[in-house]
Amino acid sequence: TMANSKALLVLENFIGGKFVPCSSYIDSYNPSTGEVYCRVPDSGKEEVEAAVKAAKYAFPIWSSKSPLERSQILNKLADLIEHDLEAFAQAESKDQGKTITFSRTVDIPRAVYNFRFFASSILHHTTECTEMATMDCVHYTSRTPVGVAGLISPWNLPLYLLTWKIAPAIACGNTVVAKPSEMTSVTAWMMCKLLEKAGVPHGVVNVVFGTGTKAGEALVCHPDVPLISFTGSTLTAQRITEKSAPHCKRLSLELGGKNPAIIFDDADLTQCIPTTLRSSFANQGEICLCTSRIFVQRGVYSEFIKRFVAEAKKWKVGNPSDPTVDVGALISKEHLEKVRSYVKKAQAEGARVLCGEGVDSLALSSGNQKGYFMLPTVITEVKDESCCMQEEIFGPVTCVVAFDTEEEVIKRANSVKYGLAATVWSSNVGRVHRVAQRLQSGLVWTNCWLVRDLNLPFGGMKASGIGREGAKDSYEFFTEVKTITIKH
Ligand code: NAD
Repeated sequence: TMANSKALLVLENFIGGKFVPCSSYIDSYNPSTGEVYCRVPDSGKEEVEAAVKAAKYAFPIWSSKSPLERSQILNKLADLIEHDLEAFAQAESKDQGKTITFSRTVDIPRAVYNFRFFASSILHHTTECTEMATMDCVHYTSRTPVGVAGLISPWNLPLYLLTWKIAPAIACGNTVVAKPSEMTSVTAWMMCKLLEKAGVPHGVVNVVFGTGTKAGEALVCHPDVPLISFTGSTLTAQRITEKSAPHCKRLSLELGGKNPAIIFDDADLTQCIPTTLRSSFANQGEICLCTSRIFVQRGVYSEFIKRFVAEAKKWKVGNPSDPTVDVGALISKEHLEKVRSYVKKAQAEGARVLCGEGVDSLALSSGNQKGYFMLPTVITEVKDESCCMQEEIFGPVTCVVAFDTEEEVIKRANSVKYGLAATVWSSNVGRVHRVAQRLQSGLVWTNCWLVRDLNLPFGGMKASGIGREGAKDSYEFFTEVKTITIKH
């Protein structure tokens, strides 16, 4: 009935294997309609305290299981999420505004894979051993789980990024208290419903919903949480670093980016253009790895601009549940306004907007008039010092500028505070290696974008983060190492 379909979804915290209501709630919006559709617990110290207590209680049980036992449970959880893939994909799209195509093909499959990947990799780690014959000694290292891990994740890839933390944390034998973004909490709550069936003991995974300043800070400041894995903005990371400093916590910080694409004259434009469109506008440009500064060598600059803009105009913006739509809604009204304000600032500085915001018109269906939509926007004639070329915009906006030499473009690409990801387009193999070596960036993709092997390190340099995640890196982060010396 209408009444039922309009009823609000009410989430509950998941603590010690049970769903528990909270005394107050936050409204959560459907970004494609602008309507409140869900209420999220507004947890604080008290709820975090209960969750940490449950996680501490479960730690001795969980950490004493063999890696194989934990691996089997993680695989079971992966199967259960995969079984409900469509329901998770629908929920993620509705909650976040992303297209159903993206959540079906990227977010949820990756969440499933995160569990499978760490279920496998935990079985294959080895520790180190050295012999010191002259001293009659052998040394070896031993790794043990750290304890209760605090996991804080953002709104852009909700279940994908949360499970990228939960999976390695529990695979290594830790128990966790997770706090997803208050704007995108639904899929984490859905996952909690599957934990018991997967065989995850009570208290191993606890999820506390709420805002960063209340629930997040309570977790960061809790003395019994020795480790925080955070993905989000650089500003929040600074605050977390300050707040956790008195406790000397172990921090992993995956932060923002201002990622360059460098396109040389000899690039294969038929590959480069569609990939650079995706790297600029996929997930509404709300991926930390999205390209927002495109440097094009003078010889192909006008051709690139012409073809890139023509293709950008073809991207269909609208109802995220329509499988033919390429760009869904941005996360919130505030965020949409912020992204738009960058386009205005660029124009005020004399830059040219070639397509999108303020140039082309956006036609939305009647149900989506109040949604937070924006057209893919391409800006040019913009100075390197401009805020559009320096600050993370995190929306469907990209800047295109020309360059002449390799030396020059490396310098310009590196002249931002961030250092997360870069793409390089060229058919000259020597140049590709040279440029990749010199870019200040945790990841460099040449002639491709977003191709990941989870075995290898992921993370940023400079203001883009501290620490790396991946098979070995996550294992090292989520375990404490000890060096033991035996004299025989
Ligand atoms: P955000 O920093 O506002 O929030 C991230 C999380 O931190 C949320 O759960 C939030 O509630 C919580 N939080 C906020 N203030 C807090 C505080 N004082 N103490 C503890 N927790 C707090 O980021 P966002 O807007 O949700 O996400 C977008 C940002 O995330 C962008 O900058 C993007 O580049 C970055 N990001 C980085 C990566 C990466 O892997 N490097 C991946 C995705 C997103």
